[in-house]
Amino acid sequence: MGRTSKDKRDVYYRLAKENGWRARSAFKLLQLDEEFQLFQGVTRAVDLCAAPGSWSQVLSQKIEGQVVAVDLQAMAPLPGVTQIQGDITQLATAKEIIQHFQGCSADLVLCDGAPDVTGLHDFDEYMQAQLLLAALNIATNILKPGGCFVAKIFRGRDVTMLYSQLRVFFCSVLCAKPKSSRNSSIEAFAVCQGYDPPAGFVPDLSRPLLDHSYNSDFNQLDGPSRLIVPFVTCGDLSAYDSDRSYPLDLQDGSEYKYTPPTQPPISPPYQEACRLKKKGLLAKDRVDILTQPLATPQRAG
Ligand code: SAM
Repeated sequence: MGRTSKDKRDVYYRLAKENGWRARSAFKLLQLDEEFQLFQGVTRAVDLCAAPGSWSQVLSQKIEGQVVAVDLQAMAPLPGVTQIQGDITQLATAKEIIQHFQGCSADLVLCDGAPDVTGLHDFDEYMQAQLLLAALNIATNILKPGGCFVAKIFRGRDVTMLYSQLRVFFCSVLCAKPKSSRNSSIEAFAVCQGYDPPAGFVPDLSRPLLDHSYNSDFNQLDGPSRLIVPFVTCGDLSAYDSDRSYPLDLQDGSEYKYTPPTQPPISPPYQEACRLKKKGLLAKDRVDILTQPLATPQRAG
């Protein structure tokens, strides 16, 4: 596989590089904005789980004002974006974000957070839900009334419960799927507009936002507890289909030229693996050592 094969397989990956975005996710936010005009009147925005930073790039270009970006991982600097390296599930990180606004509220809180996927679907969905709830907890502390919260969601078994929880705080909650998000992926985005917490609600960062029990099957709830939210696909009809492969010479007739990634990852997780491999210390390289017949164990005593 050559270096161009990913450009063929993933047109949004290719377009992101050609347009100077750090990640293909930029198109998801742009398509969400096309549908919901997320940036209208926004002067303070928070980008949770922001690395490598394509959503922050979009925000810094689309809004006049303050952008705070947070991620576990280091992120290369971006002009006009304040960065915090931290875990959004930790109280200290939430407090740091709030300090940046010095008592002012945010208009928009975004969260594109994703845990490292294990392939164990229930576990991955649970972890994703926890990230979303951590982001919501931060949002309830900094959003202005009427503000907007957009978060990645996995449309798994317990998603109905999440919608119900979000609906407690927002006038409108719906599920949006941008065209740049593959149909084959369970990822979608909860778009929550009109922040309107229940009367008497006092945000408290020190405890989980909502008590929930995964023992209950929330999808079996009926009556007012069962919330079915509208599903909206977004992105222009002419937008590329993210599940298709496209030839390298796209419709405009210009000759394809390979473009390197806009921002190579800073200390990616595979760096350590590369270091170990060079030294022959990767587990795979050690199989020979491990499969050597063992010396006959000496009986103690
Ligand atoms: N929106 C980003 C962009 O456009 O470049 C892409 C975000 S990427 C899909 C998901 C990010 O979530 C990763 O960078 C990961 O480090 C971050 N993340 C996962 N768990 C986190 C946590 N507990 N706190 C902060 N960031 C987290």
